[in-house]
Amino acid sequence: MIEFIDVTLTYPNGTKALDGLSFKIERGEFVYLTGRSGAGKSSIMKLLMREENLTSGQIFVDSVEISGLARREIPYLRRSLGMVYQDFKLLPKTTVFDNVAFAMQVVGAGGKAIRKRVPEVLDQVRLSNKARCDISELSGGEQQRVSIARALVNRPTVILADEPTGNLDRIVAMDIMDTLESINKSGTTILMATHAAEIVNARPKRLLVVDDGKLTRDEEGGLYNLDE
Ligand code: ADP
Repeated sequence: MIEFIDVTLTYPNGTKALDGLSFKIERGEFVYLTGRSGAGKSSIMKLLMREENLTSGQIFVDSVEISGLARREIPYLRRSLGMVYQDFKLLPKTTVFDNVAFAMQVVGAGGKAIRKRVPEVLDQVRLSNKARCDISELSGGEQQRVSIARALVNRPTVILADEPTGNLDRIVAMDIMDTLESINKSGTTILMATHAAEIVNARPKRLLVVDDGKLTRDEEGGLYNLDE
């Protein structure tokens, strides 16, 4: 569950990136976050990860008000939010298995747990047969599926996907959507920031549109106009 209540974010240079934003996403939803460049989408993601601190308002993740978290509690917040990026952010010259395993090592998981869990998530993204391949041997779509496996491996309640199909052609993008939808069906909430009108309109879901730091639309099954 994610809830923003009257959230304002003003950056130190005076830019008001978010201006009184309120919305609630229930557990198990798949929601698109759209809006033109500079509208505030990345700022929403950064606030959720506590990479930025809000100026006023409240943000809840799984019923915890995150601006009150102490520094030592932030890793637990980040573990409950799996991030997927447009440019994958994978470790080069490293195998698929080790890329995913690394996300478990950094949170202190042991070898036995890693050997059990990594194959499970690679199976979920249909990459079991590529586990020993180097990242450079994979297509763009396969690399994005590795990054989805990495986001999932510590069992987050939410996946935050920031333009996950931005570097992929249409057919591969639809395959990534299939993967995200199957993960969503198994219970993980997904918030996906995107500009890709052709994806939003081919697979309508709840649509949030931000403009100038304000929510301008919140529509179940809404279609997206490129000029928004
Ligand atoms: P989007 O992801 O929708 O493109 P952003 O959240 O990146 O939008 O940006 C929202 C507004 O905040 C824009 O006006 C942008 O220039 C500004 N902004 C983003 N990051 C910073 C920052 N670190 N410092 C100052 N202004 C910023």
